[in-house]
Amino acid sequence: MIKPDAVDNGYIGPILEKITGAGFKIIAMKYTQLSRRDAEAFYAIHRQRPFFGELVSFMTRGPIVAAILEKENAVEDFRALIGATNPAEAAEGTIRKLYAKDIGENAIHGSDSDENAAIEGAFHFSGREIYS
Ligand code: UDP
Ligand code: MG
Repeated sequence: MIKPDAVDNGYIGPILEKITGAGFKIIAMKYTQLSRRDAEAFYAIHRQRPFFGELVSFMTRGPIVAAILEKENAVEDFRALIGATNPAEAAEGTIRKLYAKDIGENAIHGSDSDENAAIEGAFHFSGREIYS
């Protein structure tokens, strides 16, 4: 997901260019806005964390771009491309270093495992919306 901060700041184009330039194939994509219920479900694993309320407010405050990406070693390579959760700690040239403000408003989400990538893909897309 390209998060609401990055959408609002006009970074959809540059971020997609970084993603496709790094060899990822977009096999599903949509411009949409998460409801509170969507965001709470998507981030359910974090519901006990102190930042959960803020995270849900942030993720629902404006539209996002959701996508499913395909590549060899996609999860690991995408996490490397986006950089550390906190942009202050993200490597030079990573998407979060370039486009994120802070650890909360950090521009982009990437799945952390193949298993979660499948769950998160199915969260946003039906089978008919996926072109692999
Ligand atoms: N987050 C936050 N404060 C924190 C840690 C995380 O607001 O101290 C937010 C941030 O938007 C992050 C998301 O919660 O991207 C999910 O956290 P996670 O630890 O899964 O980081 P990610 O996998 O996105 O790097
Ligand atoms: Mg995570």
